[in-house]
Amino acid sequence: MLLAYAPEALAALRPPTAEDPWRVLVSGCLAGWRCGVDGGDYGLPPTVADILASPLVRAVPFCPEQHALGTPRTMPDLWGGDGFDVLAGGARVLDEHGADLTAAMSSGARAMRDLAVASRVELALLTDMSAACGSQVISDECRLVPVRKFQKGVGVATAMLLEAGVPVVSQRDHKTLGAIRARLDPSFVPGEDLRDHHEHPWTVEHLPAPHPRRSIGRPGRDPG
Ligand code: SF4
Repeated sequence: MLLAYAPEALAALRPPTAEDPWRVLVSGCLAGWRCGVDGGDYGLPPTVADILASPLVRAVPFCPEQHALGTPRTMPDLWGGDGFDVLAGGARVLDEHGADLTAAMSSGARAMRDLAVASRVELALLTDMSAACGSQVISDECRLVPVRKFQKGVGVATAMLLEAGVPVVSQRDHKTLGAIRARLDPSFVPGEDLRDHHEHPWTVEHLPAPHPRRSIGRPGRDPG
């Protein structure tokens, strides 16, 4: 499930201990791997450094794109839907040259899902906006254009993780990340003004429709 829409799932996680820390799957770039398309980490590690530094967390980093396509690589983006639509055969992943990366992205996603299952991860902390790891907002077709388009939805790896029952949070879900920090450190008090990505003014203005996957993992909930 997407924790930004299901805070009760975070509250239901077992209390972590130093002897038995939370096992957290982490996008490689968030963990400091230089696995971005350009060989960098996108400057992301500081956004989750406090959480990953906790002795109550055991990070399991992985990059599905690097696994399948290598680094550096061309830019994968979703065409015709999101990661679940790719798994259903109704959408594709193309790079900026029009090369079809759908099979490779699915292979990388499977490898990430298999690692998550083998490692018995309890939570996944993933980089939003990625065609693999995105969970709240992703590009709608190629991003390397004068006017980039966006859509709400999930990346291919995120879709496989959600199918496997792994709860997912993004580095832009600041309210949920604050709640996670508070679980790890009871002395930490999250700011009351923290917002998750779908609550950010930019998202509210530009993507007002409900997230199409917000009810995943919560049977019976109205996705509207
Ligand atoms: S595929 Fe995921 S882990 Fe790899 S660079 Fe992109 S966002 Fe980071």
